Amino acid sequence: MASKKIIVTIDGFSSCGKSTLAKQLARELNYVFIDSGAMYRAITLYFLRNHINWEKQAEVIDALQSITLHFAYNPTTGNSDIHLNDEDVEPLIRDMLVSENVSAVAAIKEVREFAVAQQQKMGEQKGIVMDGRDIGTTVFPHAELKIFVTADPTIRVERRFKELYDKNPQITIEEVRTNLEMRDYIDSNREVSPLRKADDALILDNSNLTREQQLRKALHWVAERTQL
Ligand code: C5P
Repeated sequence: MASKKIIVTIDGFSSCGKSTLAKQLARELNYVFIDSGAMYRAITLYFLRNHINWEKQAEVIDALQSITLHFAYNPTTGNSDIHLNDEDVEPLIRDMLVSENVSAVAAIKEVREFAVAQQQKMGEQKGIVMDGRDIGTTVFPHAELKIFVTADPTIRVERRFKELYDKNPQITIEEVRTNLEMRDYIDSNREVSPLRKADDALILDNSNLTREQQLRKALHWVAERTQL
């Protein structure tokens, strides 16, 4: 059956499995996957490395002019890695120091304008799955399929802890819980593009779903929107 290319947006709180679902979908559909959070993380890494005081607007504007971001395929992992000024920073952006500061940086108007303009350009050809916090509300308000992913908070903390523990066995479950709660609070309460479910987004609660089950559900929604 013929199908047209669409834009799929996946939003939700931290560690709900948005990226996992977005990657699965992009692979199945042969679409581009964009992890918008990686862009905010890379900007935060740049600010931290260069001691940018992000409470000063002029410093932020100046620093953003020195940042270029792009995604490039990594043949070893099969994923698309974020590059900051041509350096693959994917292995560095999940560090706790970046996680602790990213939501404050992502709340800055100029930072959001910088990232959103690039995200919108990436979607011009459609055939894209992008995950984040404001993708269905601000970046692609006219996307054909919007998914809002949720999961039980305890499950989210456990999932994130397991992921981070492999890289850093010093990490505690308390640290992970505090970080998720803080990011969700800042992301939901900031002035510019706060995290919200778009009115026309479909809710996918994956607390008790396997990866395969959540993929099937999302693929069903895609099929409803793409078959001509
Ligand atoms: O998706 P991830 O958890 O890696 O995102 C890191 C942070 O980037 C989020 O906590 C949020 O502060 C910010 N973010 C955002 N808007 C997006 C994606 C991420 O504000 N579209």
